[in-house]
Amino acid sequence: GLLRHGVPAPTVFETMTSLALEHDAVNLGQGFPDQDGPDELLALAADAVRTGSNQYAPGTGSPALRQAVAEHRRRHWGVDVDPDTQVLVTTGATEAIAAAVLAFVSPGDEVVTVEPFYDAHAATIALAGGRHVTVPVGPPSFLPDPDEVAAAFTDRTRMLILNTPHNPTGAVYPRPLLARLVALCAERDVLVLTDEVYDHLVFDGEHVTGRAVPGAEDVVLTASSAGKSLAVTGWKVGWLTGPADLVAAVRAVKQYLTFSSGPAYQLAVAEYLPRADAYLAEQRERYRAGRDLLVSGLRAAGLDPVVPQAGYFVTVDLSPWGVEDARAAAEDWIRTAGVCSIPVSALCRADGDTMRSWLRLAFCKDASVIGEGMDRLVRHA
Ligand code: GLN
Repeated sequence: GLLRHGVPAPTVFETMTSLALEHDAVNLGQGFPDQDGPDELLALAADAVRTGSNQYAPGTGSPALRQAVAEHRRRHWGVDVDPDTQVLVTTGATEAIAAAVLAFVSPGDEVVTVEPFYDAHAATIALAGGRHVTVPVGPPSFLPDPDEVAAAFTDRTRMLILNTPHNPTGAVYPRPLLARLVALCAERDVLVLTDEVYDHLVFDGEHVTGRAVPGAEDVVLTASSAGKSLAVTGWKVGWLTGPADLVAAVRAVKQYLTFSSGPAYQLAVAEYLPRADAYLAEQRERYRAGRDLLVSGLRAAGLDPVVPQAGYFVTVDLSPWGVEDARAAAEDWIRTAGVCSIPVSALCRADGDTMRSWLRLAFCKDASVIGEGMDRLVRHA
């Protein structure tokens, strides 16, 4: 089972959030926004509940949402998917990832990711009985060397999971790198699963979906969601897109995990998505300002954070402060400074020593919250 693989329960995000609540700390740990999504979107969901969208949605997702997702992917990311056969609505991107890994990874198969990685990737590989093989990435770019990825492949490699924009580092994978990695996978008969939940939150550079590079049509599955971009993380509206035969295989697993979920949320997202552009642009600017505030606060405290290109998070190395174990520092910050963060080691192999002195801090928060957190840190420093 999961626990035998050293996967923690509860997750690091829940653990740190409950510690933060206990000590009344400013929560820059778990990545969720302080501000709920746009009123119009919230009202659409409430209306859908009131007017009777309360029984099971179709197993593949509401047709309106599948249509909206296909249009959205064409308009924003320049790729075509058939809403009937190449889109699967899931309970957040998390379920899309879990169902995809469970569909294709058999016990003993290997799955490659970079390290650090999002915790759910490691956990679902463990659930499937797979072996998690990691390629370390480091500052300043946090991008993998494709030759190192190639060297990590064996004849048991079944899947490469890419996360762009990347949690926790905020790296955005450039098109030529994606093209190399996808070509490598196509050649070696390896599937690619891209986790792109921060696709709309890119501040520097440009998001390229894994599907948009040559040869991707047959090997790339993409997980995305409404949670991050529309600031409704609790709605758990996600989707998986990719080749019809692979999407059908994932659907076969998904139907026995949750079968389906939240028709009212699906309909609200379906209706709002085509007119979301102004809100998406506003959010990007709000978070860019949050990022800059967090970066300058950390600098004022004497640290040298990596400025992320995208996402919700800043990462920072505490070794200039003589810290070797950032997990202990994170717990100490909660208790004595009143600031909650996430140790990056929780997003690395338990049996390794990658990024032990690093912390991750979230900026998807109100400016006043980030400001208060940074004031507390400067006083603590
Ligand atoms: N994706 C969120 C983060 O990285 C956490 C989601 C969760 O709590 N499982 O902070």
